[in-house]
Amino acid sequence: MSTNANYECFSSGCSAEPINSHEISKDLFLKPLACKNNKVLMFDKDFANNINQYKLKEIDIKSATCFPGFCYEHDVSIFSDIENKNFALNDDFVNKQSFRVLAKEIYIQKQQSFLYKEKLLNGNYSFIERIVLKRLIFLHNKKIRLYKKTLKKLENLINTNKSLYYIVYDLEPKGIAFSKMMYTHFRDRYIFRHNFHMFINIFNVDDETKCILSVFNDEASREIIKQYLIKQGVGNFSLNRFILQNKERLVFSKKYYDSLSYVDQLELKDDNNRIGNGFFPNLLE
Ligand SMILES: [Zn+2]
Repeated sequence: MSTNANYECFSSGCSAEPINSHEISKDLFLKPLACKNNKVLMFDKDFANNINQYKLKEIDIKSATCFPGFCYEHDVSIFSDIENKNFALNDDFVNKQSFRVLAKEIYIQKQQSFLYKEKLLNGNYSFIERIVLKRLIFLHNKKIRLYKKTLKKLENLINTNKSLYYIVYDLEPKGIAFSKMMYTHFRDRYIFRHNFHMFINIFNVDDETKCILSVFNDEASREIIKQYLIKQGVGNFSLNRFILQNKERLVFSKKYYDSLSYVDQLELKDDNNRIGNGFFPNLLE
């Protein structure tokens, strides 16, 4: 079974072949987490067999968080100024980092849709199973269309020097990095549909762990992010649940992993996305 769909550069209007783009900057954020052998720890999701199965893996920072994202030309022209050594947490960084998180998100949706299509074509499934697979493909394709529109919107922000609205706060543990987009939609009292996208980026900056939450700069999104944080308490918007449910996007150092108790290490490796009391004891305190 082939595991690769065809991909082209995520920059709009470009159909060149993508290189292996990092979702998280290798030099700025992965290198500090790596051991001497340049390896970080990650969880691999077993898409081909059991999507709920995670495997703990040592991955070279050269390939950690990489995906077929942008062609060489666009990878350099769009991202090189947020990858250099003079890191600054500013509008440009937040826009571009969110942009590649979303590109990665589309890649994952495409990959999943592709795998289900392959299963449907090659597998021996019952009538009901085939309906379920078709439904999954439909849902992934729907998300891809929606996310592509959002990607375009984000690209326009970058090109017009407008910014996402973002909030930054400190987290306790050192030695982790995490990137992911959260998407949901809701209807207001006038029954207008709102799409809510929140980008979550967690990095070590100057020996501190920063959590950067960014949303589109409209009233509804700003309000939600504020309400969310007020209601749940800053730094406690079910972040640990969200990370646990998306473990394959978490990068961490061996030192961080070793600092966890045996029970927490087991929790972290657990496949059932269970939230134990001891999980990530320092993450939200
Ligand atoms: Zn390109």
